Amino acid sequence: MSGSALRDGRNWIDGAASDALGGDWILSAAPGTGEPLARLARSGSSDVDRAVASARAAQVAWARVDPNEKGRLLWEIGNRILARAEALAALEAVDVGKPLANARLIDVPRTADTFFYFSGWATKLHGETIPVRGSFLHYTVKEPIGVVAAIIPWNFPLLLAARKIAPALATGNAVVLKPPEEASLSCLLLAEICSEAGLPPGLVNVVTGLGEEAGAALVAHTDVGKVAFTGGTDTGRLVMRNATAGLKRLQLELGGKSPNVVFADADLDQASTAAVSAAFYNQGELCTSGSRLLVERGVYHEVLARVVAGTERLRLGDPLDARTTLGPLISAPHRARVLDYIASGDAEGARRMTGGDPRDPGYFVTPTVFADVRPEMRIHQEEIFGPVLSVLPFDDAADAVRLANATEFGLAAGIWTRDIGRAHTVAGQIRAGTVWINTYNRFDAASPYGGIGASGFGRENGRAVLDELTTTKTVWVALS
Ligand code: NAD
Repeated sequence: MSGSALRDGRNWIDGAASDALGGDWILSAAPGTGEPLARLARSGSSDVDRAVASARAAQVAWARVDPNEKGRLLWEIGNRILARAEALAALEAVDVGKPLANARLIDVPRTADTFFYFSGWATKLHGETIPVRGSFLHYTVKEPIGVVAAIIPWNFPLLLAARKIAPALATGNAVVLKPPEEASLSCLLLAEICSEAGLPPGLVNVVTGLGEEAGAALVAHTDVGKVAFTGGTDTGRLVMRNATAGLKRLQLELGGKSPNVVFADADLDQASTAAVSAAFYNQGELCTSGSRLLVERGVYHEVLARVVAGTERLRLGDPLDARTTLGPLISAPHRARVLDYIASGDAEGARRMTGGDPRDPGYFVTPTVFADVRPEMRIHQEEIFGPVLSVLPFDDAADAVRLANATEFGLAAGIWTRDIGRAHTVAGQIRAGTVWINTYNRFDAASPYGGIGASGFGRENGRAVLDELTTTKTVWVALS
């Protein structure tokens, strides 16, 4: 693609597109080719100031809007997302490098679902009447926080933006979104769709640019009441430090290194097939990726062979080709990081069964399976966020739980067994925000989602996120 075909990613502030006040741009590339795809406004603190001021003004009026009208607008946004499904899916495929089929099947419909689901909550937010000592009427009211800063990574920009925007709007807040610098285009289109649906200007603003510039300015802004962050654990730590001065509400959805535990009595065909997609869906660029496969020793070799065969059947290729099941990684530096992990696996003595090779042009890496991994190895401890699976044997349920819990993360886990008692017991013992039994990577706008430990805190989706986005006001009325 030539320079003249570059798409423009301009900020979306107060219901209109605008350049960064400094007039600067950054470039983002198409992962499938490595060619420049878009130039994005390089926003600084003055752009963030404009966006937050617009959000603050709009939020005061929005909080008073009839809840039925709020719900209607959210539903309308969902409808319009579906009406623009093809354009959104194509953008997500080209910009992120994910297979178009997946963007059509998951990213876009789940984004619409998120608006449909939270549209229903707009009319169902209420406090309680609480009996207290003395002659009082005592009740609580749920109030919005004000301006929510939403900061998201590049692996599911559209869907993650929706997860932050829809509940924030339903609870009467306004949002300033900092999309990922690697892939901002679908977030910008989403903001435009919100406006087309009739959402008043200022309620959803998008400020593009670099994390350490636009993102940091947003976290530090005194008129931001809450920071809802999804991204890497190290960035999350930095965001937390920077949010403390303003005593901001904070929600952190961070990295993962999720165990997927297969017991010998499981349906091995189902478990092995699912283990491949758990590890490699979205190129392994998924926070809940089942990147540590723990297999009971008696069936270890059988499951390993099935998983390697399944991995070799994946089709690496152009994200826009309907036959592609595995796309490129997001960027050249990220691919270099993933290849470095693969080299460390080789150097530490893990047995590379398949994959691990770069493919050009674009940022491809063939899907990689390491066997006989030891728990202390880097490939088993650290989040790679790429198509690299570690496989380890375990002896019994206690050993499986010990290995499953042997990292600092606690995002998700899978358990495969026909023994229902063991399934629930092990689910109770694994440290994770979500456990899937005889399934993996299931999500729903109604299902609370988040981590513990180095995977962060707070919950998105479901009723749980409503408390994250509101404050409780208590009212005492003297009756005598
Ligand atoms: P990242 O942490 O580098 O960036 C995430 C976002 O933070 C980007 O928009 C970036 O611009 C911004 N940012 C960077 N520095 C900042 C700063 N100083 N202040 C404010 N914002 C800043 O993560 P990434 O590489 O884009 O994404 C990969 C990571 O995201 C992985 O660790 C993955 O596990 C995690 N992730 C977690 C979830 C979840 O729900 N738990 C979901 C998806 C991805």
